[in-house]
Amino acid sequence: MKPTGPIPGHYASTDNGLRIAGATPSSLVEQAGATPLFVYDRAAITDRIAALRSAIPSRIEVNYAVKANPWPDLLEFIEPLVDGFDIASIGEWALLDEAGIDAARTSFAGPGKRDEELEIAIAAGVTLNCESAGEAGRALAIGERLDTAPKMAIRVNPDFELRGSGMKMSGGAKVFGVDADKAAALARRVVDAGCEWQGFHIFAGSQSLDAGAIAEAQRNTIALASRLADEAGVPLPKLNLGGGFGIPYFAGDEPLDLEAVGEGLHETAAVDVLPDTRLVLELGRYLVGEAGVYLTRVVDRKESQGETFLVVDGGLHHQLAASGNFGAVVKRNYPVAVVERSSDAPEEVVHICGCLCTPLDRLATQVELPRAEVGDLIAIFCAGAYGATASPMHFLGHGPAREMLV
Ligand SMILES: *Cc1c(COP(=O)(O)O)cnc(C)c1O
Repeated sequence: MKPTGPIPGHYASTDNGLRIAGATPSSLVEQAGATPLFVYDRAAITDRIAALRSAIPSRIEVNYAVKANPWPDLLEFIEPLVDGFDIASIGEWALLDEAGIDAARTSFAGPGKRDEELEIAIAAGVTLNCESAGEAGRALAIGERLDTAPKMAIRVNPDFELRGSGMKMSGGAKVFGVDADKAAALARRVVDAGCEWQGFHIFAGSQSLDAGAIAEAQRNTIALASRLADEAGVPLPKLNLGGGFGIPYFAGDEPLDLEAVGEGLHETAAVDVLPDTRLVLELGRYLVGEAGVYLTRVVDRKESQGETFLVVDGGLHHQLAASGNFGAVVKRNYPVAVVERSSDAPEEVVHICGCLCTPLDRLATQVELPRAEVGDLIAIFCAGAYGATASPMHFLGHGPAREMLV
C-alpha cells in the first residue's frame, strides 16, 4: 500500500460522499455533460487569496502566474482578486487581452521570446521581464522601430536559490534571467537606451512548503535588488519578488505556514524598506491548485496476477502531474477519493489507471480505497494548477476534459 496526499480541507466528506462547493460531484458532471471534468471552486480561490492578503503587508501586490491555469473563465473570475498577471508567452497575453485585462497590469517572463512576441508585447504596453542581454537588445531595437519605449525589467538569475523548492529556477547556470553579476550593467544599458524602466524580477524557485526558506529567499531578493539598483545607479520602481509558495500534494507534506511567511515579509518588506518600490509576489499553484478537482469515471475493473486495476475514462492526457510524469523524481500518489464513498473505510488496494495505451498512464499506485465499481466517479485533487494546461491533451486522441467553475 502506498499513501496518498492530503485532501484539501474545503472538500466536505458527508455520509453520502464527497461535496464540491456544497454540490454532489455527480450533479456537477450532469451539468457539465460528461466526465472527465475539472471542477474549480470559486470560494476556495477567494478564501485563499483573502488569507494570503491578510497575512502579508498591504503594500505587497499579488500577481497571478497565468501558466498555472489559463482557462479563460478562471482568468475572468480571478481578475478582480489579484493586482496583476504574469505571462510566459504571447498566447497567454492573447487570453488576458480577450478577457479585457489591461497590459499595464501584465508582465511577460520566459526564455526565448521571439521578435513577433516582443513586438506585440511592446505595442500593447506589457512589461518585459528580460531574460538575457540579447533579448533586451532586440526589445530596444523593436521599441525604436515602433517608436515606443518598451517597458522593461531585468530578470535576474540570483546567486542564491530557494532551498527545498520542487523546481529550481535559480542558483548556478540557468536559462532563466541574467546572471546577478551582469545584471547591473545591463540595467544601466537599457535605462540609458531610454526604455520605460520597471526594475528587477527575481524568481528563485517553485513549490516550496518551507516558510523559512521562502522568507530567506525574499530577504536575499530584496538585498540583491537593492544592491543591483545601487550598483547600476538606477531607480527601483518595482521589484518582483517571485513566489514559490507550494501546496501539499503528497503524504507527509505539511501546508505552507502562511503566518510565518507573512511575519517574514512584515520584517523584510517593512514600510521603510525600499519605500518607493512596488513589491510584487507572483503565484500560480498556491492560488488555484487546491481549488481544482479532476473527476473521472471507472470504465473497467480488472484483476491481473492478484492486483486490481481501476481503469478510468481520464488519464495523463489531462492530469499528467498526478501520473508522476511532470518533473517528479519519485512517483507518489496525489490525494484521491471514490466520490460516493469518500467517508467509508478503505477496503482494498488498487491501481488507478487512465485509458491511454501506455504504462505511464497510472494516476495512482497501490492506493487503499473503498471498493469502486464500473460507473463510479473517482476524484483526484490538487488539479487546479498544471492540470489541463500542462498535460498532453492530444496524445492518443481522447480529446480534452471539460472544465467548470462552481
Ligand atoms: C512557473 C512560474 C511561476 C508560477 O509558479 P507556481 O509554482 O505555480 O507558483 C511564477 N513565476 C515564474 C517566472 C514562473 O516561471
